[in-house]
Amino acid sequence: MKNLVDIDISNKNLVVRVDMNVPIRDKKIQDPTRIKACLPTINYALEKNCKVLLISHLGRPTEGTREDKFSLAPVSEYLSDILDEPVSLEKDMSNTEIFKSGPRVKVLENIRFYKGEKNNDSELGKSLGLLGDIYVFDAFGTSHRKQASTYEAIIQSKEACAGFLLKNEVEALNKSLQNPPKPNIAIIGGAKVSSKLGLINNLKDKTDFIIVGGGITNTFLKASGHEVGSSLVEDSMLDIAREILESGKVLLPSRVIVSSTFEGDNVAEKGIDEISANEMILDQAITEDIKEAIEKSKLILWNGPLGVFENELFSKGTKDLAKNISESQGFSIAGGGETLSAINTFINKDDVSYCSTGGGAFLEFMEGKKLPSIEALESKYL
Ligand code: AMP
Repeated sequence: MKNLVDIDISNKNLVVRVDMNVPIRDKKIQDPTRIKACLPTINYALEKNCKVLLISHLGRPTEGTREDKFSLAPVSEYLSDILDEPVSLEKDMSNTEIFKSGPRVKVLENIRFYKGEKNNDSELGKSLGLLGDIYVFDAFGTSHRKQASTYEAIIQSKEACAGFLLKNEVEALNKSLQNPPKPNIAIIGGAKVSSKLGLINNLKDKTDFIIVGGGITNTFLKASGHEVGSSLVEDSMLDIAREILESGKVLLPSRVIVSSTFEGDNVAEKGIDEISANEMILDQAITEDIKEAIEKSKLILWNGPLGVFENELFSKGTKDLAKNISESQGFSIAGGGETLSAINTFINKDDVSYCSTGGGAFLEFMEGKKLPSIEALESKYL
């Protein structure tokens, strides 16, 4: 896969697929992180005297309909503010003269307004791919989707390459998959083993320690013979959990937080052998052995909360984990919507070495799957 710096982009018209799917309320952007993450590519293109047409989706409109609440207008206004220059919102992608006049940065209206985006329509892909001179893909967060703007446009373009965000993501995530420094640790939390099984399986031979968290912990505790009361457990995953436990790498918690309801009645901290039938495990303590394992790890990968952290009563495990990671000397990588929200709530995001911009794409990459957009970019230079 080629990157922006590998090809001569000077004075060219670039169509850049970005992920500017940001939360918007009353036409105001609530969190501009994703827009800011695209700036290195946009600024580099402008330095090279390029014209830029940005493509993004926003929310989930019904394909073929233009609903105002899914318009990218607030995004183009925000961009105009931070770039300190005019940015136009283009509503007609059939305009082949799109680069001829107007500002040097333009935003195409929500690509999901166009029929054919989701089913990777070859006509739509071709129009997008041939709209400029080079198709730049910089939307890591959507690279696991095989859609017209994330796959077919790359294939149909004359020339395509990765932007800086994608390049940095792939480099950071590959750090933990290819020859990771030792010792290293993977922390995998969340509700269900089944949704993280691909991740656990891909990492279990590469990592020295695995910490499981959340509902996943309950299944592992039950698999290792502990009573887990009325906790969320996936019985269908018990055999798989036993197999993973045989690797000897999983550090199970010795102390957990239980309650008789999700709302937090009768909350208590208990040893893992003291749980009664009417209690649920909703959080876990970061004990010394877990703390030590994090401290000595040169690489720390984190996905998923350790408890029902949305409720303050069950947030301590996730909060302490975040703090331990922020204080560690190792290279830390975090990804996933819930994980980033915990990081933003409990610590300074800059204290994590790398926060992935992808949710589903992050998981699939870490599961070892080939992401369609990356595959398409690689196929251009075979
Ligand atoms: P996931 O989307 O798989 O990463 O799961 C995140 C969700 O798991 C969060 O909304 C948590 O509230 C939930 N969760 C974490 N720990 C537990 C637990 N012990 N029991 C039930 N749900 C949990």
